[in-house]
Amino acid sequence: MTAGPRAAQPVPLDLTDRLTEVAETAERHLAHTDRAAEFPAEALGALRRTGLLGLLVPAEHGGLGGTVRDMVTAAQTLGRTDMSLGMIFAMHCQQTEALVRYADERLRTELLPRIAAGEIYLASVTTEAGKGGHLLSAQAQLGALEGGLAIDRFAPIVTGGAHADGFLLTMRSPGAEATAHEVSLVYAHRDQLDIEASGDWQPMGMRASHSIALKLTGRIPAHHVVGEPGGFHRIAAEVFGPLAHLGWSAVWLGTAAGALSRVLRLLRGPAGRGRFDTGSELLLTRLARSRQRLDAVHALLQQTLRTVESGADLSAPARQLQLNALKITASEECLAAVDDLVTALGLRHGYLKDSPTRLELALRDLRSAPLNYSNDRLHLADGRLALRDQGVSFA
Ligand SMILES: Cc1cc2nc3c(=O)[nH]c(=O)nc-3n(C[C@H](O)[C@H](O)[C@H](O)COP(=O)(O)OP(=O)(O)OC[C@H]3O[C@@H](n4cnc5c(N)ncnc54)[C@H](O)[C@@H]3O)c2cc1C
Repeated sequence: MTAGPRAAQPVPLDLTDRLTEVAETAERHLAHTDRAAEFPAEALGALRRTGLLGLLVPAEHGGLGGTVRDMVTAAQTLGRTDMSLGMIFAMHCQQTEALVRYADERLRTELLPRIAAGEIYLASVTTEAGKGGHLLSAQAQLGALEGGLAIDRFAPIVTGGAHADGFLLTMRSPGAEATAHEVSLVYAHRDQLDIEASGDWQPMGMRASHSIALKLTGRIPAHHVVGEPGGFHRIAAEVFGPLAHLGWSAVWLGTAAGALSRVLRLLRGPAGRGRFDTGSELLLTRLARSRQRLDAVHALLQQTLRTVESGADLSAPARQLQLNALKITASEECLAAVDDLVTALGLRHGYLKDSPTRLELALRDLRSAPLNYSNDRLHLADGRLALRDQGVSFA
């Protein structure tokens, strides 16, 4: 078990062919998965086939041995085609990294080769009725059993929950004296759980993420606790927070960049030339504003990535503030960049579903970004962190 992030590889992995295969598969099914609010099962199949589910699994366990930088590159690329798929991938990588760094040797040996082989797609269960998105508390409690632990937990929103092969869940530690802040992270394999889905998934955007409500009951062996019992706060600070904010922001940037790219192709292509005046100062200004927002997110993403790669203590206020600033800024600016483009292009190519720009889909999907771990929660945390950094140092 190691605490620090693994060092960046000197030679970056060439992921191009693998990502192209996944993105092309996603592209073929995109209109259907969005319309029907269906999970992109074919694209998940491509993630399994290409080894990308094992991107962060070390080579000694059969994985690609990729770095957090590779994950950011891949998430951004997939986000260009399908934001739901990008988020599915980024969240799986975040779960994988928690296992790589915090699972005990037995659990690592059992799971990592299977993740690398594409046999295990991991879902995340942190949100809970009553506490909402609050990451560092848990209401449902693990039950202590002879040689194992009992799970009985309602999960109001689980991306890919109907397709996942395994789940990482946050739960209150067992024992009458355990408080809501003694949170353990546990792994449960699908066949160790009774899974009952409830409700219908009919959101505004992120429809292909198929993020359904589940009731999960079952029992797991004791070694399925990931990290110290009750010590989830450490995994949250070292892995969940950093990888979520980097991975999600990369996906959102990819989605907005893909939208801008399709707009520019339309404007410069034969269909756009007759319809739009690319000499219009208003159009140019709107394009410039959209591009500027994306360059700002890109710069912050790269800088935050360097902070995480440096191996420095991420619990320092200035570093946490930077990680939160990335999530808040990316969620607002990528959405605003696409909104600028809708205004720039107007009804036909800004607002209608069948436009090749796909702005309508990008806008609906990106509207979830400020809600996906509420920016309000992060602002409140940032206020407290800012008070602890009177010198206003920067990461
Ligand atoms: C597409 C999508 C997929 C998701 N997939 C998963 C998944 O796979 N697994 C999972 O566990 N979760 C998942 N989530 C949940 C996500 O991570 C958040 O936890 C969840 O969106 C928060 O829901 P909420 O806004 O209702 O709850 P809360 O965060 O509890 O917020 C409720 C309301 O209270 C406000 N609020 C909250 N705290 C404060 C505060 N301190 N000050 C002021 N106002 C505050 C918020 O702005 C919000 O309006 C997903 C969310 C989305 C959108």
